[in-house]
Amino acid sequence: MGEQMVDVVVIGAGVAGLVAAHDLVQGGSDVRVLEARDRVGGRLLNGELPGGSPIEVGGQWVGPTQNHVLQLIDQLGLSTYPTYIAGQHIAEFGGKRSQYTGRIPRLNPLVLADIGQTQWRLDRLGRLVSASDPWQFSRAVELDGQTFETWLRKTARTHQARAFFRLVTQAVFSAEPSDLSALWAAFYIGAAGGLDMLIDTAGGAQQDRVVGGTQTIALSLAAELGDRVLLDSPVTDVEWSEAGVAVRTGDTVLRARNAVIAVPPPLAARIHYSPALPGDRDQLFQRMPMGRVIKINVVYDEPFWRAAGLSGQANSDRRSLGTVFDNTPHAGGPGVLVGFLEGRHADTGAQLSAADRRRQILADLAGYFGPQAHDPIDYIERDWAAEEFSRGGYGAFTTPGALSRFGSALRKPIGPLHWAGTETATRWAGYIDGAAESGHRAAREIRIKATAKTVS
Ligand SMILES: Cc1cc2nc3c(=O)[nH]c(=O)nc-3n(C[C@H](O)[C@H](O)[C@H](O)COP(=O)(O)OP(=O)(O)OC[C@H]3O[C@@H](n4cnc5c(N)ncnc54)[C@H](O)[C@@H]3O)c2cc1C
Repeated sequence: MGEQMVDVVVIGAGVAGLVAAHDLVQGGSDVRVLEARDRVGGRLLNGELPGGSPIEVGGQWVGPTQNHVLQLIDQLGLSTYPTYIAGQHIAEFGGKRSQYTGRIPRLNPLVLADIGQTQWRLDRLGRLVSASDPWQFSRAVELDGQTFETWLRKTARTHQARAFFRLVTQAVFSAEPSDLSALWAAFYIGAAGGLDMLIDTAGGAQQDRVVGGTQTIALSLAAELGDRVLLDSPVTDVEWSEAGVAVRTGDTVLRARNAVIAVPPPLAARIHYSPALPGDRDQLFQRMPMGRVIKINVVYDEPFWRAAGLSGQANSDRRSLGTVFDNTPHAGGPGVLVGFLEGRHADTGAQLSAADRRRQILADLAGYFGPQAHDPIDYIERDWAAEEFSRGGYGAFTTPGALSRFGSALRKPIGPLHWAGTETATRWAGYIDGAAESGHRAAREIRIKATAKTVS
């Protein structure tokens, strides 16, 4: 059994852990990053298209106001390009198909007004709920005492508006409105600057892609950290006291003054802590499940829908593939459509055999874009709930009651243990941007502690 002594051990080489490590190394600390997988990036992963160019099978888009990730992209010498949205989008709501340009699908004016008033109330709540301490909101207990589904039923009057917000919830949280707390929904929307920021392509979270695939952010950070990043090193045990921490992976124990735990909440909860974590932290862990998503990139010789005047963006409240985008890479080919099975659609999709699931996905795409969709040259899918070290995606959320009761434990350091990961962010929680923010914050906490020690 090997033993090593360093200043800081970072658990998890996703964006959060890598950013924390990077900042700490720049501040002169001796750091090791322990990563369970045989690769870095966590929920960011590049797959390969026929011909060899990369395609994102995990997180991919970045957008305006995501300043932490945009700065990172800039610092690493990477660049972005806009998501393709020229042409008409497809919307299928309430059994009717429409094609439209701009942001708003053509819907019955009563339904549009209902969506508008519901969104207005949601955005207002998002502004009222503080993104850094949502549990302090004056109506936190009331809002947290209901699911987002309950809130929507009370607020949206029409069946179609409710169906619209169900689809939005699946697309944004990869969960059902009945899964999550209404307070978490309001917090998340506020942390992104409003619902439009979350759902828009141009001007919103789906605006841009990273040249070379978004995992390049993590790969570039890891390249700078060099052999400080140890792959195939799942952490199983963390022993801690006010004096420091001992982190075990396999036969190796790393001792350090501090640790940054930069793994999603359900994974952090699977690590054995000695002594056990305080009750509020553990109770919070027990109430933060991951969303569920299967992401599918379907590859064609060329983006045939563009010639038909279609943008490749499609939404439906009746298909299992409720959200689709043009995901053709920067070079313009091959043509790629990306779609998501989210929430309950991921539950049912995962029950199918691979062949049946593929048939169903292609049938949905053909329903949107015509029979050519039946003839892809490649089909690349990833079920994130089946990933041992993610256990779902896009991110975790809180169930009713959790955020108001235990939310204050979300980021609070426990002795030498500091918490990072996108779920702990105050802006763009759940996004790559939030992961980067959380990494900077955890590194800052440790630097401040070290400075305070030196001064005293
Ligand atoms: C399909 C999908 C699509 C998405 N789309 C977008 C998008 O378009 N835009 C966007 O901004 N965000 C998107 N996201 C979310 C985004 O990917 C995440 O918010 C972000 O990558 C989270 O980074 P993180 O560092 O907090 O966590 P992770 O990336 O989950 O990193 C945690 C790391 O810890 C490791 N780990 C876990 N347990 C252990 C252990 N015991 N010991 C050691 N290591 C461990 C994991 O292997 C992983 O590498 C998407 C996510 C998914 C799954």
